[in-house]
Amino acid sequence: MPTDPAVEDRVLATIDELAPELIDAVQRAVRIASIEPKYPGQSYDDLVGRESEVAQLVSAVHAESGAEAELFAIEPGRDNAVARLRGTGGGRSLVFNGHIDVVPPGNPDAWTTDDPFAGDHRDGRIWGRGSSDMKAGVLAQAYAAVALQRAGVRLQGDLCLAAVVGEEVGDHQSGTTATIERGYIGDVVVIAEPTAPPAPLSIVPVTPGLLWFTLDFVGKAAHSGFRGETVHPTIYGSELGVNAIDKGFIVYQALNALEADWAQTKRHPLFPNGKFGLLPGVIHGSPYGIDVPFSLAETLRIEYCVMFHPGDDCASTKAEIERCIERASETDSWLREHPPVVTWMLEWEPYVLDSDHPVLPLLERAHERAVSGTSLEGPATRHGFAGVCDATWYEQKGIPSVVYGPGDLRLAHAANESVSVEETIAACKTFALLAMDWCGVAEG
Ligand SMILES: [Zn+2]
Repeated sequence: MPTDPAVEDRVLATIDELAPELIDAVQRAVRIASIEPKYPGQSYDDLVGRESEVAQLVSAVHAESGAEAELFAIEPGRDNAVARLRGTGGGRSLVFNGHIDVVPPGNPDAWTTDDPFAGDHRDGRIWGRGSSDMKAGVLAQAYAAVALQRAGVRLQGDLCLAAVVGEEVGDHQSGTTATIERGYIGDVVVIAEPTAPPAPLSIVPVTPGLLWFTLDFVGKAAHSGFRGETVHPTIYGSELGVNAIDKGFIVYQALNALEADWAQTKRHPLFPNGKFGLLPGVIHGSPYGIDVPFSLAETLRIEYCVMFHPGDDCASTKAEIERCIERASETDSWLREHPPVVTWMLEWEPYVLDSDHPVLPLLERAHERAVSGTSLEGPATRHGFAGVCDATWYEQKGIPSVVYGPGDLRLAHAANESVSVEETIAACKTFALLAMDWCGVAEG
């Protein structure tokens, strides 16, 4: 049954009153530099504990909503903030999920501020690492629950809140999966990752899959003065030396061709054409133990991040990539004898919600109501997510999810990250309206 419009108006007015508190909480959360301690290149011991500080901040907001709030950790110092707002009974249950770890700030010279964790509020935005991805979303969810309480609304179904660690490295065993196993589950989940582009607050029912792999090539050392003779097999060829970098580029070109093929063949209505690809994001080749080009390179490592079509899975995509590498290696006499070693580092299955799932029309309606009268006014947009997220781990436990939240993924993981205040408040309103429609509102 649709929610009484008078009750909706009361909740929306309460969120307008709570907005300064919500924005202040986002600023305070951004100022805690909760960099994912397992992120590559980071010092775990230096960073562990900061996620718990954010969890405490979020948990205090959870408690304000009247929910049964708790902190719990799989690894010491890495608390998840979870809560259950018990319904009066008879309604559908809902989970709000978001992550509280962030990626490192990256190149400090690329930031226009001295401190990437300043959490400034200017030009209608909150600035800092983790603002878009995704402390604004986590707190918009928490304040939606507070608004329901302040407006005197009791839900019929349970509403669970889960602010989790570990998302940025797929460490769901410490974060989302741990909260599921602790009983914070529901009939559907809304994950507040930043869902622009293409439009602010897009509704995301699908994500690609992700793979990370390394390719290790070997060469054969020789004096750099023999470059010409070794590169032309008619003189010495590989009898004298082999430059691993040249061999790696044979496979690099084959993987580029596979990517070009995907742009033609791997199409999806909710993603731009050419979306799915193989990114060679790290490359390192050199003579043994030295970074000077006075000898042929004896080793080469290339690391790839693959985003693949949601209709495929990790196993079939890995097989396709391995076949491509094998076929390229067959074309070269050295690579036939010394094929590159492929090491799979991370596997993240795609996530797909049925396009006729009943949460989608309710979320669209809630969004349109929440943005009416703002610069975001208009119908909701459905789109695929540029990255992966914790929806995968809910799906693996049989729980459907949808992704919707303030912020822009183009700003996430980049310098000068920020989030729109207007979007954050609108998202909070959408979350509250959806909770009422989905869980039902108790009489009286
Ligand atoms: Zn994120």
